[in-house]
Amino acid sequence: MMSLDKILRDGKLHIFLLGSGGPINNNLRVAPSIAVIANGEFILVDVGPGSYRNLDILRLPAAHLSAIFLTHFHSDHIGDLGEANVLSCANGRIKPLEVYGPEGVEKVVNGFIMAYEQDSKYRNDHHGDEVFNLEIATPISKTIKLPDPNEKELVFDRNELKVYAFEVDHSPVKPALGYRIEFKGMNVAITGDTIKTENLVKHCKNADILFSEAISYDMLKTVIAGAQARNLSRVVKILTDIQEYHMEPVVAAKLAKEADVKKIVFVHIVPPLTNKLAEQTYLKGVSDVFDGEIVLGEDNMKFRLDPKR
Ligand SMILES: [Zn+2]
Ligand SMILES: [Zn+2]
Repeated sequence: MMSLDKILRDGKLHIFLLGSGGPINNNLRVAPSIAVIANGEFILVDVGPGSYRNLDILRLPAAHLSAIFLTHFHSDHIGDLGEANVLSCANGRIKPLEVYGPEGVEKVVNGFIMAYEQDSKYRNDHHGDEVFNLEIATPISKTIKLPDPNEKELVFDRNELKVYAFEVDHSPVKPALGYRIEFKGMNVAITGDTIKTENLVKHCKNADILFSEAISYDMLKTVIAGAQARNLSRVVKILTDIQEYHMEPVVAAKLAKEADVKKIVFVHIVPPLTNKLAEQTYLKGVSDVFDGEIVLGEDNMKFRLDPKR
């Protein structure tokens, strides 16, 4: 099978939206994950359930995957970490995978190591050190600490691909991060899960592409009313609570406008959009606020940025 190795070193910044959905499973969108490929580097931001399958189906060069950046540890953002690690290793990765995240990442990584310990041993026993090396199969956690909560911090700088982490507000989930990725003058901002804050606007400033989370509270209200009518109190409670720590699409559009980004791509799409009417309802009012390019994210969408210098 052909992998897309040629895009590794064509001098451009490639982005693949592996997962454009949120935590509610549906046939259209898997949980969050964004792949970034440039100058021989291949990284992921989040690795939600189902996203590694899309990476494989797109034939992305898994053997070159070198790092994963987690925004926070909600299950919809970390579920495929074990698969990403073990399958990229089986594909021929030559170094241990680095997993970056806020404080607590060590616990998450150690948990996955423990869960996959037996799997790794079977593979090593069966295929040998050359094909499945236990050292390469053991991921390394990298804890990101921000010395100043208002400033971004450079956390990865290889082959001109730079990743900065910044603080977002997904309370009570703390700490939570967003990321800004730069390559040869091109900028991509990824919000992670968050409400809109001044700090978020600052760190998304002038991005060529902003990948912004957004949940339609209007649409959720309809779902909640239906759940109330059927006495589904657990659903009502959860769908009400989640409105405290996300952005509505129009709020994400305000972020895009204030940050002067060129393009907004909506991700972490909730609730599932099952038809055109639902898509229109989700995006209602967005183009009144933001006059740049508006993209409703879909799984496996590809983006390419060409260097400015
Ligand atoms: Zn989430
Ligand atoms: Zn979350």
